[in-house]
Amino acid sequence: MSAFPEPLLRCLEELQKLPGIGPKSAQRILFALLDRGQEPALALARSLESLARSVERCPACRAYRETGRPCLLCEDPRRDRSLLCVVESAADVLLIEATGEYSGLYHVLHGLLSPMRGVHAEHLGVDAIEARLSGGEIREIILATPPTAEGEATASFLASLLAERGAAVSRIAFGMPVGADFQFVDAQTLGRSLSGRKTMAG
Ligand SMILES: [Zn+2]
Repeated sequence: MSAFPEPLLRCLEELQKLPGIGPKSAQRILFALLDRGQEPALALARSLESLARSVERCPACRAYRETGRPCLLCEDPRRDRSLLCVVESAADVLLIEATGEYSGLYHVLHGLLSPMRGVHAEHLGVDAIEARLSGGEIREIILATPPTAEGEATASFLASLLAERGAAVSRIAFGMPVGADFQFVDAQTLGRSLSGRKTMAG
């Protein structure tokens, strides 16, 4: 039998389902919350509930928007509607926005091709990219997946799929180390890789 009460064990279990959180970090987070009294834990619970209930994926770009509200990325009239930047995750949108080098539209893949992990083309929302292309406004698709094996494989797959669809396809130029994760690259480096992008097709 465990030395800890059931609700605590349940929370530990839930936290450990999250990426990057092992038993030690889960315990640290929970005890830090409990040490601060009821209110911080209740505030977190309320914000998580509202997150789950009132945030959804935008069907066009697949980034997150307030449920049923216009997408702040797709509907912003100041954005350049001739450019579409394809990224692995919604977090990458924030990183690219932070470079200040890009003001076009986005497509979030929510993963990279990985047959080993069961991630196939249909999980990446390619149909949403094709729907956008058929609108005729997109002039260039920038493939901004990371320079890892899966990132490169995904970029090549998309480049061949989207070639001859009427838009140029380019790949961001990496001044960043091969195998690097975007999350560890500074905004300046990422900005340079965007502005130095190379044409792949089109
Ligand atoms: Zn959107």
